[in-house]
Amino acid sequence: PVVTRFAPSPTGFLHIGNARTGLFSWLYARHFGGKALLRIEDTDKKRSTQEAIDVIFDGLSWLGLEFDEEAVYQSSRVERHAEVARKMLEAGKAYKCFATPEELAEMRDQQRANKQPMRYDGRWRDRDPSEAPEGAPYTIRVKTETDGETVIEDAVQGRVTVKNSEIDDFILLRADGTPTYMLAVVVDDMDMGCTHIIRGDDHLNNAFRQIQVIRAMQGVEDGWEEPTYAHVPLIHGNDGAKLSKRHGALGVRDYREMGILPEALFNYLLRLGWGHGDQEEFSMEEAIALFDIDAVNKGPSRFDMKKLLNMNGNYIRQADDARLARIAAERIGPEADVELLTEAMPVLKTRARDMNELAAGAAFLFTERPLEMDEKAAGLLDDEARMRLSSISGRLQAETDWTIEALEATLKAYAEELGLGLGKLAQPLRAALTGTTTSPGIFDVLVLLGREESLARIDAQAA
Ligand code: GLU
Repeated sequence: PVVTRFAPSPTGFLHIGNARTGLFSWLYARHFGGKALLRIEDTDKKRSTQEAIDVIFDGLSWLGLEFDEEAVYQSSRVERHAEVARKMLEAGKAYKCFATPEELAEMRDQQRANKQPMRYDGRWRDRDPSEAPEGAPYTIRVKTETDGETVIEDAVQGRVTVKNSEIDDFILLRADGTPTYMLAVVVDDMDMGCTHIIRGDDHLNNAFRQIQVIRAMQGVEDGWEEPTYAHVPLIHGNDGAKLSKRHGALGVRDYREMGILPEALFNYLLRLGWGHGDQEEFSMEEAIALFDIDAVNKGPSRFDMKKLLNMNGNYIRQADDARLARIAAERIGPEADVELLTEAMPVLKTRARDMNELAAGAAFLFTERPLEMDEKAAGLLDDEARMRLSSISGRLQAETDWTIEALEATLKAYAEELGLGLGKLAQPLRAALTGTTTSPGIFDVLVLLGREESLARIDAQAA
């Protein structure tokens, strides 16, 4: 059975690129009816605060990704990591290195001076530990293969090969007894029974080292099988450079705050570098049914905010009105009335590309008189406009049928009398009703506000 894992480090935010590989891992397991596991790589104690960990959990559950079993905390497993290092030592697959930090620095200086690749030269690989001074500190290093090459048949990258001579005997256990990241990842992957490692392609080089540990442990402990690797290209910005702060928001939470719906971000991240024919939108069920790693692009994908916003707009229009009303209400504030918002939602959601825009467009429903006018709205309300508002008020007071159709007929008739386009008439009216120059259609606004409130707002600006 397929077992995948998503292994984010608590850095303070859930990077959308990470969320995307997490999504791929999760989908792959779901597609094959396997297990999708989550591991929190919290060995950096300074960064791994509870808050930073919660950001990951919140982001994943917001996206709708429920993982199987309890999350594994890497920090809780240091004993086990150290145990594996010791077992490798006993089996002759690893050795003690007594080289001092000064000595290693000197080695690197020389390599740099000779323009040689900087890597540990194996100086303690064949030496007897008894040659070291009594009680001298040591690290434990893996005895890597020296001849031949290591081949990875990567499910995304294809065949990737590295000469074993290029992989040095790296450290598994530091002199203070703490495991290195390289060791911890492999031990956890193996103990969690992972069959597929789907992650960012910035970890491809690590895979060659991690395989060395797996091979060294085969025969020492049962169940250490090489997993299938799938190194997914990272997301780039639309200038082609690796996605970074200067391209805009990076965290899943930022997108939530920008008013992106989770299903829109889910679909966008899925579609970024993966596709199925020319289908644009996938429900979670469809994604699970159709996802396969073969169709993931080899090249980096480009993040395109405009596309995400357009997609988000489409999802907003399909979303349930009461749900949208609740999301909008949170953004408007305590004065928002979810029931009224729900009723207004078919009108409010026709244009918005994000929930902040939608909430801003709905705020007029809850503003108190006297309305604050924004600059543009105030600019529209000159003497002539105020005079017209007063005539509009008169005609609307006589209106018996407060419906879009009736109101439209009444105002159109008045515009014709004046020899004006309806737009000319509608702009100051909109200003009076909403305090802004952007809003849903003017007749919708009148109906949503109702007769009494509409007339009060118009009269407050009329001359
Ligand atoms: N914790 C690593 C990261 O966030 C991932 C390690 C892995 O997937 O092997 O980049």
